[in-house]
Amino acid sequence: MCLTNNVTLVNLMVSSRNTTKIGSCKKLEGSIYVLSVFISVKGCEWDNNSAQQMYNLLFQAENWLTQQARRYGKSITFENGGYGADGSVFANRYVNLTTARSGNLHPYFDEVMRTIGYQDMAQFYDWTKNQKGADNSLILFFFNTDDRSFAYSATSGMMSYDPHKFNSEYAVIYRAMSGYMSDAGVIAHEILHLFGAWDMYPSEYLTKEQSDTAARMYPRSIMIQGQNIAQREIDEVNAWLVGLGPEKNYFRWFQSATAYGAEYEVDSEFDDDEITSPQEYDEECYDDDENGEEGAYEEEGEYEEEEEEEDLEDFECFSATIGGPDSGQCSYISICDEDVYSDEDEDDLENVEIVFTGKKFISADEADNEIVCENGNSAEIETLEKGERYAFGTSTGYYGYIVIEDGKMGKSSSELEVTIYYTESDEDEE
Ligand SMILES: [Zn+2]
Repeated sequence: MCLTNNVTLVNLMVSSRNTTKIGSCKKLEGSIYVLSVFISVKGCEWDNNSAQQMYNLLFQAENWLTQQARRYGKSITFENGGYGADGSVFANRYVNLTTARSGNLHPYFDEVMRTIGYQDMAQFYDWTKNQKGADNSLILFFFNTDDRSFAYSATSGMMSYDPHKFNSEYAVIYRAMSGYMSDAGVIAHEILHLFGAWDMYPSEYLTKEQSDTAARMYPRSIMIQGQNIAQREIDEVNAWLVGLGPEKNYFRWFQSATAYGAEYEVDSEFDDDEITSPQEYDEECYDDDENGEEGAYEEEGEYEEEEEEEDLEDFECFSATIGGPDSGQCSYISICDEDVYSDEDEDDLENVEIVFTGKKFISADEADNEIVCENGNSAEIETLEKGERYAFGTSTGYYGYIVIEDGKMGKSSSELEVTIYYTESDEDEE
């Protein structure tokens, strides 16, 4: 839901080597002034009830953003102002993504700002800095209708940027999209765009490969989808983009070719060949570990508190197909061999640590198969997210996660696709 369009790229001052942001949303840090402007258009006016619903979602989004920032060890605070909840702010025409794509909407929104007492958006920005002392500010324009919300960010080449003419970043939020009430996740998603976040879902800007990898590495990213905000998180790539976390080598691999507009010329030192893919990075990462170097996450004590949030890309992994409830047989998983066996593979069962019965994961020593049961291996398996994600530790010194990628636990199916992430345990098993 981001707007990257044909608005001319006049003076893009962002170097893609440097995430210091231009515009009114610089870094997700410090104080953030949020102005909500409820624009009534003939036939879709706001009233206090409907506007209050949107305020509730906004406050939910702000709380969520505050918690997410805390996860990365950063503190943010919000101050809110608003106009038009009672239907008093009128515009003579309606705008949406289509009108935004076919023309510059800044004059339209400057005009709306005039009706509520600012000269324009730029003056609002100056006011938040000088009068409010805000580190960041943004405007949310709400429409009481069904359409696709979008954001005008000054980082992503989405708009012409002239610091003297335009520097106030804003998002346009519709009360509903495709018949569903917008939720807090939509608002948080658009606000993150203003701070520089990239969409992580398949779009004209993200290749299939990039979005598939993002979905595998960051299944809970709010930049993939915003519904059920409590289940979502700011992934580490976007955490870096919005200024919450450090950069890792492979982050720019996710940068869409058009994220900065036309514009490798903007930053000619930035060369495609330098981009490390997440896969390549895994290998480098392991070389580092063998040399005894610690990962970058050492600095982030706060982040490490949540064990479930451990970064899967720090693990080795392999994919496998295991028999579901309808397969009528067990699947024998060997982390050591990076392989999955069946009853027929008698010679290979010595290294099996985990068994999938078709319904659940159990330890090798609980298996009905004699070879597996007596091979001396065992494992502990814990359910993290029912039907989706399991954590394990084995007597052979591995720990990691089993992620169900395709197929449903507990539903009738003959197979499940899984990715098994693992690493060697730090603890001495002796
Ligand atoms: Zn988006």
